[in-house]
Amino acid sequence: MPRFSNKVAIITGSSNGIGRATAIILAKDGAKVTITGRNAERLEETRQQLLAAGISADNINAVVADITSSDGRNQLINSTIQKFGQLDILINNAGAGFNDPTGVTGIRQSIELFDKTINVNLKSVIELTQLARPYLEKTQGDIVNVSSIASGPQAHASFSYYSMAKAALDQFSRNAAIELIEHGIRVNCVNPGAVDTGFMGAMDIPDAAKNKVYDFMLADKHSLPVRKMGKPEDIGHLIAFLADKTVSSYIIGQTITADGGTTLINAMNSHDFVEMLLK
Ligand code: NDP
Repeated sequence: MPRFSNKVAIITGSSNGIGRATAIILAKDGAKVTITGRNAERLEETRQQLLAAGISADNINAVVADITSSDGRNQLINSTIQKFGQLDILINNAGAGFNDPTGVTGIRQSIELFDKTINVNLKSVIELTQLARPYLEKTQGDIVNVSSIASGPQAHASFSYYSMAKAALDQFSRNAAIELIEHGIRVNCVNPGAVDTGFMGAMDIPDAAKNKVYDFMLADKHSLPVRKMGKPEDIGHLIAFLADKTVSSYIIGQTITADGGTTLINAMNSHDFVEMLLK
């Protein structure tokens, strides 16, 4: 029997990237899925990809919603319960970085931008978790949050607010895990490194600029030791593992990194001191 048979999952941010790949992985393994995002056209693309993968239309609930609005969050939970009658898995994947229109970076960016960043990457996760909690308690369900290697412990000075939001998300995941495991709900967190998705496009970064950065990373063993960009499925399979009680039930409140080795290198390690010493 497929591992997510009789399970119902909400995957936020499934109109693109990591969320879309995760929805397809879970649905192919038997889950009924609520897919969601603000962009109706891209959400329809996800629905079409699910249908093309052999998923029955009856097992797909597509909801156009903004998770930073309480209406959007309520619609997500209520329509899932209405259509499928239960909720077993919540994947809090939606997230975004924002450019300051004035071009400044770091803590010179406006507090409005800070609020916007915190709203989508942190506050909406807390509020969706609160809304989902009674349903997940009934099914003894599982939550997987999608954070980032930007959460630290290294500083990310130019991407300050986003990395702060993700650091708080890591700690929220640990705190919620301890509180909710008492009620049979498991919480874990995934921290991706560089993955080729719509993330940069959503920040209005042109493809040419994005490709310049990716090409640099690919050529630089200190940035991306594995020398290949992550694919959305690389993260989706890890999310699916953490959502699957039959294989990961002893993992509680962990932040698990999938980054092609990026975080193993620190600034001192990126210089060849052995070569310097021996020359
Ligand atoms: P994408 O931009 O491809 O996907 C982001 C998804 O989030 C989209 O489906 C988007 O839908 C949705 N979303 C964004 N804002 C909102 C909102 N206000 N309401 C509802 N949905 C929203 O990026 P990724 O797949 O890369 O991002 C997924 C997660 O992975 C994020 O949390 C991101 O921070 C994290 N991550 C990504 C990394 C990468 O290198 N790609 C690295 C580390 C972490 P729509 O536009 O339709 O609203």
